Amino acid sequence: MECQWWQTKVSASVVDKHPRQQTTVREHPRVEHCRNKWRDADIHIKQFKDDPIIGWSHMGEVFKKWSRDEIQHVLEILPTLPSWTEIQNYNFRRAKDSIHKGNPSTSELLHKSIIFYDQFFKERNKKSIIVHESSHHIYKNLEPDGVKEFADLSGWELEVDKTGKVFEIPPKVLIKPDSSVSKDEDFSNHVEEFYISPEMHAKKYPKIHQFLKGKLK
Ligand SMILES: [Zn+2]
Repeated sequence: MECQWWQTKVSASVVDKHPRQQTTVREHPRVEHCRNKWRDADIHIKQFKDDPIIGWSHMGEVFKKWSRDEIQHVLEILPTLPSWTEIQNYNFRRAKDSIHKGNPSTSELLHKSIIFYDQFFKERNKKSIIVHESSHHIYKNLEPDGVKEFADLSGWELEVDKTGKVFEIPPKVLIKPDSSVSKDEDFSNHVEEFYISPEMHAKKYPKIHQFLKGKLK
């Protein structure tokens, strides 16, 4: 019996060592089987895609094939992520460098993709990067009420100029500098902190922390 590289073969003799429940059927045939090396690897393996995203908006970014080592890195991390990331809903793409220097990863919401750049594999905080990217997908699924509640709590304001054009003004105090880019970047930065330093986040942003606790479960 051949197993996949992300599985180990469990032989009948190994199974024998475990206490087995009494059954009425004697001489029950035991067969070899393949066991995932990392939890749900057989499900997650299907999420790794080698084909580029058609019409990808970041001009100049080049998609590439996943290596086995890289897939293994990610397969090791996925089972450790909280279930609210809904990580099983996304597909994973591999691209060389981001158009934004030093950016490890990005999200493409239409195809439910998370794109991993070379930089990702050099980072130490791989878990929080994946949590951050998942948050962009979670944000997309917030109801308009949820978006408004978050924006109000974080301190986003609307300004209308003389011509009637509406501007979104970012909060005066930002959790991270790039939170000023958009509400969903701000949201994802909050979720990242909520995940890595929950106590600090609860202390500094009690209302947003409560809001996220209600949404992320
Ligand atoms: Zn982001």
